[in-house]
Amino acid sequence: MVIVMDVGAREQDIVVVMNKLEKIGFQGHLIRGVNRIVIGAVGDRTAINSLNLEVLPGVEKVVPIMQPFKLVSREIRNDSTLIKVKNAVIGGEQPVVIAGPCAVESRDQLLTAARRAAAAGATILRGGTFKPRTSPYSFQGLQEEGLMLMSAAAKESGLATVTEVIDEWSLELALGYVDMVQVGARNMQNFKLLQAVGRCQKPVLLKRGLSATIEEWLMAAEYVVSEGNPSVVLCERGIRTFEKYTRNTLDLSAVPLVKGLTHLPVIVDPSHATGKRELVAPMSMAAIAAGADGLLVEMHPDPQRALCDGHQSLSPDELDTLMLRIANLKAAVSGVGA
Ligand code: PEP
Ligand code: MN
Repeated sequence: MVIVMDVGAREQDIVVVMNKLEKIGFQGHLIRGVNRIVIGAVGDRTAINSLNLEVLPGVEKVVPIMQPFKLVSREIRNDSTLIKVKNAVIGGEQPVVIAGPCAVESRDQLLTAARRAAAAGATILRGGTFKPRTSPYSFQGLQEEGLMLMSAAAKESGLATVTEVIDEWSLELALGYVDMVQVGARNMQNFKLLQAVGRCQKPVLLKRGLSATIEEWLMAAEYVVSEGNPSVVLCERGIRTFEKYTRNTLDLSAVPLVKGLTHLPVIVDPSHATGKRELVAPMSMAAIAAGADGLLVEMHPDPQRALCDGHQSLSPDELDTLMLRIANLKAAVSGVGA
């Protein structure tokens, strides 16, 4: 249910509603929008109805949320959520670009990538140090050593950082080194991990699962937010279909659709979606034109020698070109999208 407060509601009116909810075992989620304050209460509707909240001072109305995802739904919050990751703001007018190698490989590789990402205009550096690989014989990542390098690269470049976590142990470690944690496609329905990132204070980049429906993806975001962490950025990274020419099929229609369903920002990862370097720029442009709040792009100083996903990684020069094209496109399509 959403408890919509009057424009002139006082702080004490809010406290009374929160306390009443707490007494029947509900946690009220206070959402201060630009124009109004609402309280989200998730749980058995009959129990909330029995409180007769409508008659309390400061309460305008009590409305049910029809979607199965509640706290992330646009029904509860009409204003789009802005998520701050160090100096980057995701969800605002300007698209945010996250760039960097698939995996952190060495100090030299990462620092070069960070310098070139910053020079191109990206504001967040990516780099995997816990790599969920299809084969147990593939490079699994540098683990804590990689996190230390992410931290060094952030210091030198001024960029914010994001890395993937694959379990509670890697999450605990990563929290000490990076500004944002990523839950990858393979873990989108790892509910224990979703709850654990929901208990942390850092923003979460939540990839869409390989075969996840939009509803399942939003329910995964709901797991995180319901644990108390409101800062979730959704990332469309392609879904599995019968098509084999591309690594996955980029579901671009998901961008405006999901932005209509949720107040959370949505970004697109054209690298994992297509698996092909030459498709990264066109799909990046399409994503921005469709209203995406940003991009996650794999870039490697020397893609030919990358230990992971070199075939879909841009070179630093290619990232420079892409960033210029995005800036021009953004100016042309401003106002397009949800
Ligand atoms: C990644 O971003 O490094 C990654 C493994 O992506 P995904 O989880 O989307 O496959
Ligand atoms: Mn990769």
